Amino acid sequence: MMIAENIEKITQHLPSSVKLIAVSKTKPIELLQEAYAAGQRAFGENKVQEMAAKQPQMPADTEWHLIGHLQTNKVKYIAPFVHLIHSVDSIKLLETINKEGAKNNRVINVLLQVYIAQEETKFGLSEEEVHELLAYAHNNKLRTVQICGLMGMASNTDNTEQIEREFEHLHQLFSHLKNNSTAFPAIQPQHFTELSMGMSSDYELAVKHGSTLIRVGSSIFGGR
Ligand SMILES: *Cc1c(COP(=O)(O)O)cnc(C)c1O
Repeated sequence: MMIAENIEKITQHLPSSVKLIAVSKTKPIELLQEAYAAGQRAFGENKVQEMAAKQPQMPADTEWHLIGHLQTNKVKYIAPFVHLIHSVDSIKLLETINKEGAKNNRVINVLLQVYIAQEETKFGLSEEEVHELLAYAHNNKLRTVQICGLMGMASNTDNTEQIEREFEHLHQLFSHLKNNSTAFPAIQPQHFTELSMGMSSDYELAVKHGSTLIRVGSSIFGGR
């Protein structure tokens, strides 16, 4: 029962305000079932096909979090059941999720992925693009998508000061948006509650800077 021990090791020091998402990408269903048996309910996947294939094999109260880049033409495969999409990085994607929410008669919860790392390769919105997206969501009255917060990935570096700066930067942006909801009417402060940051290598730093959702894979399931 290594998985149960790993989950316990991570969660025992977490504040109650922080939820652990077990990132199960590439891992076989047996390992997800083992985590579920240990009490884990939230699972993160980065590929639509993989999540859609695993979902029917897990109990109905499993929470599915899409954490990877999402193409608009694939939203339909997860729209009926996804709990939270962490990776909204364009107006077009937000619009598509809203349409799929309407088709499925449900409100789909999303986070806006913000680019905070110094590396060039990561997906995500700039601060200016976040403002544009929020204005669009308001002006177009998107009612079947709910913006619940922000997501970000820090640089892949050993420099903990840099990682902390990047997390704190996202934390500041999150607080700014939440506390100025009259300027950003697409945000409903009572629903804008989640800050998704931190993975196996840096979740402790992320928690220090206000993370509410940590996305941990290899420290639970082993390397990929
Ligand atoms: C894979 C992945 C994680 C988990 O990474 P680990 O280092 O295995 O904890 C977290 N977030 C995203 C977006 C990922 O793709």
